[in-house]
Amino acid sequence: MDKYDVVVIGAGAAGLSAGALLAKEGKSVLVCERSPYLGGRALAVDDEGFTVNIGGHLIEDGGSGLTKIFENVGKKLIHGKVNAEMPVWDHENQQWGSIRDRYATDKTELKKVIKALVNTPWEELDNWDDRNLRDWIHQYTDDQGVVDLFEFLSVLECLTDEPWDHSASDNLFVRKMHYQERRMAAYSCWPGQGWDGIWQDLADACTEHGGEVRLDTAVSRVVIENREVKGVEIPSESTILPGVPYEAEMVETGCVISTGRPRCAATNPP
Ligand SMILES: Cc1cc2nc3c(=O)[nH]c(=O)nc-3n(C[C@H](O)[C@H](O)[C@H](O)COP(=O)(O)OP(=O)(O)OC[C@H]3O[C@@H](n4cnc5c(N)ncnc54)[C@H](O)[C@@H]3O)c2cc1C
Repeated sequence: MDKYDVVVIGAGAAGLSAGALLAKEGKSVLVCERSPYLGGRALAVDDEGFTVNIGGHLIEDGGSGLTKIFENVGKKLIHGKVNAEMPVWDHENQQWGSIRDRYATDKTELKKVIKALVNTPWEELDNWDDRNLRDWIHQYTDDQGVVDLFEFLSVLECLTDEPWDHSASDNLFVRKMHYQERRMAAYSCWPGQGWDGIWQDLADACTEHGGEVRLDTAVSRVVIENREVKGVEIPSESTILPGVPYEAEMVETGCVISTGRPRCAATNPP
């Protein structure tokens, strides 16, 4: 039976980062990915000679996120060209325009809110997980232009149409990071090595430090006995029908990191 310090479920951004960092720290790591691809929701696939990015498009990282993880594991996340104008599509006039045009009047109120955000401790943002952005802004200004700008950015980043759907802390965290690290509302770039390239780099960092990354490998069960993690089960058949017994390989480990929205269940056998 194979034995590892840590089994990571999922080879998306979170799983590959965890796998590469832990391998670098000297842990024996196995990263299991049920699909044939690295990258999870930010995967890139080959299609008729083209590389098609199905998920992620822009890396929003001023330097302290994925870029830092790459540095830590001995790789380089290449930042492609950055457009400081942050072009956005203007539906009304059917043309591209600068984000600056969305707030072209006196900047006093905007600067006040940016300063308040930069001075707000990171931990305090946790109190805004289940509250909306508008309430946070109204602590500092009633200027509708500032509210509109922040909400516009939140809709751009969160892929839903209504700003009140979004957690204030999600948006404020990203905004604070960009202002502090790059002095701009939103810093984003295309990864120089491509999205497929960055996931391959992280997988390589994991294996170069003794870890293992297995594709087409779904974890069906985390085995827990007496409140202790004992390992994971990997079925030999790729399709598991509910209630139908299947052959499974048991991989022993005392620690499991699950990064997927689990279809696999943690079980505590009698
Ligand atoms: C259309 C779209 C556009 C986006 N654009 C951007 C963007 O421009 N910039 C940006 O920063 N973000 C973007 N995102 C968000 C970004 O892609 C995700 O936040 C990120 O990829 C999530 O990574 P993750 O590792 O947390 O999860 P995932 O990528 O979901 O990874 C989880 C992995 O776990 C695997 N898994 C699940 N269960 C099991 C199991 N039982 N056994 C083995 N493997 C398992 C899954 O197959 C998956 O590969 C976008 C997302 C989408 C959908």
